[in-house]
Amino acid sequence: MPDVVIVGAGIVGAATAYYLAEAGARVEVLEATDIATGATAASFAVDVSRVKTPRLLYDLAVAGTREHEALEGAWGAAPWLHRAPTLEWAYATEGRARLRERVARLRSWGYPAEWVSRGEARDVEPALALSGSAPEEIALFPQGTWYEPTVLAGALLDRAQTRGARLHVHDSVTAMETVQGHITVVRTATGRRISADVVINCAGPDAAKLAALAGTRLPLRRVPGLVATTTSNRTRLGTILHAGDLNVRPDGDGRLVLHSWVQDAGLDLYPESGDRVDKAQRLLHQARTMLPGLADAEVQEGRVGVRPVPPDGMPLVGFTADVDNLYVVVSHSAVHMAPLLGRLVARELTLGREDRLEPFRPTRLQGDDEHEPLDESARNMLAMVTAASKGPAHGR
Ligand SMILES: Cc1cc2nc3c(=O)[nH]c(=O)nc-3n(C[C@H](O)[C@H](O)[C@H](O)COP(=O)(O)OP(=O)(O)OC[C@H]3O[C@@H](n4cnc5c(N)ncnc54)[C@H](O)[C@@H]3O)c2cc1C
Repeated sequence: MPDVVIVGAGIVGAATAYYLAEAGARVEVLEATDIATGATAASFAVDVSRVKTPRLLYDLAVAGTREHEALEGAWGAAPWLHRAPTLEWAYATEGRARLRERVARLRSWGYPAEWVSRGEARDVEPALALSGSAPEEIALFPQGTWYEPTVLAGALLDRAQTRGARLHVHDSVTAMETVQGHITVVRTATGRRISADVVINCAGPDAAKLAALAGTRLPLRRVPGLVATTTSNRTRLGTILHAGDLNVRPDGDGRLVLHSWVQDAGLDLYPESGDRVDKAQRLLHQARTMLPGLADAEVQEGRVGVRPVPPDGMPLVGFTADVDNLYVVVSHSAVHMAPLLGRLVARELTLGREDRLEPFRPTRLQGDDEHEPLDESARNMLAMVTAASKGPAHGR
């Protein structure tokens, strides 16, 4: 069994640690801050299967859903997992056409999707008050899920530790000594020096910085996003809503989480707290127009996270070309994907090459930073953020 050092204790590092420890590997996890405080803590955190393309990535996402369910089965409970139907509509003509195309494609792929009228949408979600500008055609995806990623990351790491994994928080990896393309020692801020058969880069949005410490390049886009959490309120939302550019989901205890692509546009990587509060207030204002129960709600928190987005939008999983024992696990939409990726990575490192990971090797992107995203949702995200940053936009 390999000795493994995992750098990063977000959802990806936590899942990778859990499955490797389960498989019998010796695991040390090094985390610069605390567990699940990076992108994982600022995620909208819903099942992303309905937006993923090409077919290869969609299939991976659907398998990602199954993996959360498998964990639920294995552990006998899943306090991080909340099933809720998803309602989605677009206001602009182009956005409606894209949604129609997507619903048709998803149906042809066997994913449950149907059209409902505004009245039927209200039956599904009584908290909704749709204005005249909402279209008559609303997509209903009965199998939505939202996750509590910090709860899942904590549970994965607790279980990894009961299987012998060692977790060191507030200890950043500051250097990696390499000899002829092989990491011999990982050094940390507190003076640890650790040797391992494999070093796994689970540093999320900082994965390129970490790779640079070992003398290799990892092409990665960093796309900041803001989620606002409301105070507890009367809305009692039972669905996940994607209304033009506005996304809303429940967050337990009567709170809601709000996100908007347009608000993300031009978002600074390290916004002033005033800017963060301002954007969060605008989200709440926007959400109130369709959810009257939010009338008395306030913004509890506006949190900014940075999405790690490989240039082609597909996960990066595997050994790097220049450093033979540096293994990367980085993905956008990784709250959804982490349990599956973690399990496949553990199988690969303990049992041998995992065919399902072949299409996602980091070596595919050698010297190719300007790759057009193959994943339509990543393409749309980048287009929306870029377009909206050039001027006002009015939904998809
Ligand atoms: C606004 C927003 C909305 C999103 N919506 C969704 C969604 O709906 N569904 C979905 O599945 N995903 C979504 N995502 C993406 C998802 O949140 C990320 O893909 C996922 O959280 C990445 O997890 P991670 O563990 O790779 O990174 P992180 O959670 O950032 O963890 C990386 C960890 O590495 C540590 N680290 C970095 N460098 C070092 C070092 N040198 N030494 C030690 N530790 C180090 C960091 O401190 C950090 O804790 C969203 C993200 C954002 C920001």
